[in-house]
Amino acid sequence: MFFKKQNIELKTAKEIEKMRVAGKVVGEILEKLSEIIKPGITTKNIDVFSEKYIRSLKMLPAFFGVQGMKYPFPSSACVSVNDEVVHGIPNASRVLKSGDIVSVDMGVLYEGYYGDAARTYAVGSISDTAARLLRVTEQSLQKGIEQALPGNRLGDISCAVQETAENGGFSIVRDFVGHGIGRSLHEDPQIPNYGKADTGVKLLPGMVLAIEPMVNAGSYEVYMLNDDWTVVTRDGSLSAHFEHTVAITEDGYEILTKV
Ligand code: MG
Repeated sequence: MFFKKQNIELKTAKEIEKMRVAGKVVGEILEKLSEIIKPGITTKNIDVFSEKYIRSLKMLPAFFGVQGMKYPFPSSACVSVNDEVVHGIPNASRVLKSGDIVSVDMGVLYEGYYGDAARTYAVGSISDTAARLLRVTEQSLQKGIEQALPGNRLGDISCAVQETAENGGFSIVRDFVGHGIGRSLHEDPQIPNYGKADTGVKLLPGMVLAIEPMVNAGSYEVYMLNDDWTVVTRDGSLSAHFEHTVAITEDGYEILTKV
């Protein structure tokens, strides 16, 4: 069932049940990574752990092979360190050290349906600013999710995310947005992390949204490295990324990627 010209597909209870299975696996991996991520491990270690976990359940890593500008994404997890915003490529020679922050973004495909979530972790002990960036970014995701209610509008989510990040003294990345999700990893609608309340598409039960604020400690500008995947902040400031897949229900929302 499609809604308006935006092709926003409303999911049935059966479809959401499959997305709940995929989402739970993503949530479990992100939870387990909080114990694994410490100084001395490489970004490749994170990818290998995640891929093994997914394949041991006979599911598929959703990011592996996603088409890029020049070549497909070569790994199961996007692992982005410090000033890297999103889409970092895991690397066996990239060793994490105390004081780093590392964002892990991951998708799982189960019986034709996707789950997608991300979290930024502290490596060892981090600066007060870095700790606050992580806290504020997670809060901005939470405030956005709280607006994912039937009868609200898409702009209510965007506005809540933006206000929370900016009131915390940080800036919202403009060039990348959240998205609908279901039988494809990226579906309509696009969900900017900035915008006006009470504008945009009306939210309906059955919509499933991947809400994912990317928040920079400095300016919001970003650019892509020569590897054609890794996105970094233009001013070299730290960046954090939190994401959940959220289904809108008859009377509220359900976070599908939370364990
Ligand atoms: Mg996403």
